[in-house]
Amino acid sequence: MAAPPESSYITELRGEKLQVAVETRQATMEILKDALRKGFYGHPVSFYYSCSEPVDSYKFSCIPTEKILRDLLQKTEEVLFKEDSDPENSDTFAYVYPNDDVVYLCAEFWRAPNHLCKDSKPGTLIHEASHLLGTDDITYEHLTVELYELYGTLLGKSSYVEGDDGKMHCREELAQVNANSLEYEFETVINHEGRYEDGRYSCCEETLKNSVCRRQSTGHYHLHERFEHKRQEMEEKLQKIPAQHPDDPNLRLKF
Ligand SMILES: [Zn+2]
Ligand SMILES: [Zn+2]
Repeated sequence: MAAPPESSYITELRGEKLQVAVETRQATMEILKDALRKGFYGHPVSFYYSCSEPVDSYKFSCIPTEKILRDLLQKTEEVLFKEDSDPENSDTFAYVYPNDDVVYLCAEFWRAPNHLCKDSKPGTLIHEASHLLGTDDITYEHLTVELYELYGTLLGKSSYVEGDDGKMHCREELAQVNANSLEYEFETVINHEGRYEDGRYSCCEETLKNSVCRRQSTGHYHLHERFEHKRQEMEEKLQKIPAQHPDDPNLRLKF
C-alpha cells in the first residue's frame, strides 16, 4: 500500500469545502447511475483502416463498459477526500495515488463548475476514481475517435498520438485507458447541450439535474452488437497494453 503523503499542506476537509466535496460525490453518483439506467455503455471495437473521409460517423472519446461504470460508481461512493493546499499544486484539480482510496482536492477543483461540463467537479471525480480502477494519464489532449460504416464494414482512420510519456499510442486503444478520455466522454459526448431551467433540460426534457442526455448520439455504444469479431479483436489488443501503473507507490496521477 502506498504510504500517505506527509505534507503540512494536506488537511482534512471541513465546513463549506467538505459540503462541496460531499455534493460533488452525490452529483457524480447520480450521473453514473443515470448513464447506467440509459444504457450508455458498450464495448470498444477495432475497425478497418481507411483513408476516405467518414460519412455519418460515430464520434466519441471512450466507450466504457457496464462493468467500468458500475465499478466507478462503487469507487466514487468509497473514496475519501482530503485537501491539498500546496501552492505548487495551484494549477491542479485533484490527484490520487493508485493504491490509496483518497482523492486529494487542489485549488482548481474549488474553481471548477459544479455541474457536468468540460473540466467540471463531477468530471474530475470520474477522472480520479477511474485512476483507482487502472486508467492512466497518457494525454490531456481532447481526443476523439471517429468510425463509420460502409457496406457492413466498420471503418475509421488510423492515427497515432504522442502521449505525455513521449511514446506513440494507437488512438482507439489509448481512448480506452486514458483517464481524460473517459472524463470527456461524460463531459462533452453524453452531456446535455441544453440548459437546465424550470426543473428540466431544454434539450431532452430530462428532469433529473445530474444526468446524461438521451438526445446525444450514442450509436457507438452498440457497435459491438453488430461487429462482434471487432469487439474480440479490440479486447485482445487492450490486453496487450502493459499494466497501466508501474508498481511505484509514489507515482502520483495528477488531474
Ligand atoms: Zn439533454
Ligand atoms: Zn489523471
